[in-house]
Amino acid sequence: MRAQPRSTLRTTGDGGADFPLLIDGRWVSARDGARFAAHDPYLEQDWGEVADAGPADVDAAVVSAHAAFIDRRWSGLLAGERARRLLQLADLLERDAPALVQQQIFENGKLISEMRPGMAAVAGDCRFFAGLAETLQGASVPPSRPGFTTFTLREPMGVVAAITPWNTPLGLLAWKLFPALAAGNTVVIKPSEVTPTSTLMLAELALEAGIPAGVVNVVTGAARTGAALVAHPLVAKVAFTGSTTTGQAIAAQAAGHTARVTLELGGKSPNILFADADLDRAINGVMAGIFAASGQSCMAGSRVLVHSTLFDRVCEALAERGSRLIAGDPLDPATQLGPLASRAQLDKVLGYFEIARAERLRCLVGGQRLPRQGYFVAPTVYADVSPDSRLAREEIFGPVAVVMRFDSEEQAVAMANDTRYGLAAGVWTEDLRLAHRMIHQLRAGTIWVNNYRIIGHTLPFGGYGQSGIGREMGAAALEAYTETKSVWIDLGNPVEFATGPMGDRHGL
Ligand code: NAD
Repeated sequence: MRAQPRSTLRTTGDGGADFPLLIDGRWVSARDGARFAAHDPYLEQDWGEVADAGPADVDAAVVSAHAAFIDRRWSGLLAGERARRLLQLADLLERDAPALVQQQIFENGKLISEMRPGMAAVAGDCRFFAGLAETLQGASVPPSRPGFTTFTLREPMGVVAAITPWNTPLGLLAWKLFPALAAGNTVVIKPSEVTPTSTLMLAELALEAGIPAGVVNVVTGAARTGAALVAHPLVAKVAFTGSTTTGQAIAAQAAGHTARVTLELGGKSPNILFADADLDRAINGVMAGIFAASGQSCMAGSRVLVHSTLFDRVCEALAERGSRLIAGDPLDPATQLGPLASRAQLDKVLGYFEIARAERLRCLVGGQRLPRQGYFVAPTVYADVSPDSRLAREEIFGPVAVVMRFDSEEQAVAMANDTRYGLAAGVWTEDLRLAHRMIHQLRAGTIWVNNYRIIGHTLPFGGYGQSGIGREMGAAALEAYTETKSVWIDLGNPVEFATGPMGDRHGL
């Protein structure tokens, strides 16, 4: 029998929504009782009810997180003690990994073969940032004026708002929540309305791990909930992953009260095959780049740039292999193509197929919905697409590749960089010198040479251009959740130095 989603939390709420809000360590319904449905994109069925947080609920969550920050119930612990509880959380994430994997699949239809390693990475990310908690340090700095000792401190910022998308719910939350907590902040999470329940399950584990009430809060809902959170004056930082349009709106709103922002946004990443590429590996890389997660990946290699000499062979291979991908139940380990995560995403991708028909693009495979249950579209490849086509310029977030040809390194670089995005790029060549030249010439936050889509917590991830602001992961990510405080200690300067007619003489 097919597994079932968790239909309520382990912790009982106030008798309202199956999946309540977490505010100040208590599970509560939205004040006005509003709810929305959790929906399975494979079965096309609703399976649960989630509280829909309004502005009053968001205010309560932020006030609770702010109180927890001010009384230092978390930041006042030794960093080693915060680390210990995060390590405990990592153990619980491993204990409950099968349930957390399944719950995300019921929410977004992503394949079990993708979600299992993804969940193992979440526990690994938690341990990585736990390990860094005690390394957070300022610097002893040589004074620029005599008679002083000067140094810096790194301090937590306060309330962090973590707003996440639906494509990798817990993975993208991990990149925000764990460094924020390791640095001593308190957090209000606003998961995507498509994938709220797995985040609530993770928050349940945070309480079990001994992270005090009020330090991790969760408000579920859609744009209205997120906008109320970003606008709240007690929010010190917004860490957001999602679309570029939403990210720009969030940055503008956060600027109203000078909240800091980290933005991980969209992409239209090039996967570039040079004439000497190891073709079998390169084709695998192109397939993984665009068809994994049914293309619902910020780092999807959605523009395939191919040297003319390989062009026909690559097109043929992509069409043939794309048509053979096994669509099916995302819970079945043999399935290679899952549904899109929602009806809205299906409609968006079908809209691009319409545009492709209107633009008379040459479709090698796909270009239509699959005639079966679930929000499936066929793996799709368009060839000889003009760089001006909307399909070559806009993020589709579906299993849709455009293939374009080039004749020289210079042309490949110009085509690759001809985008408002800059999240990632793949380069396939056996020529070490060419690979290094490409690494320097490509304008993107991650470059993969002879691989694609590999990420891990020791390297920063983020985008150039409209793909975002800042970086997540890597040791430096911890600092993105801190403020720097500079300290001047007077070592006994003559009294007139401090109190003379000019007071400070530095001119500011
Ligand atoms: P989205 O921008 O529609 O929503 C993201 C989150 O923001 C959701 O929780 C949503 O409810 C919330 N939101 C929407 N409007 C808001 C507003 N006005 N104020 C505050 N919050 C608001 O994105 P999505 O459709 O959930 O996710 C897909 C997008 O995410 C794609 O563009 C993809 O490229 C991007 N993404 C980027 C990365 C990355 O690391 N760069 C990773 C995954 C996904």
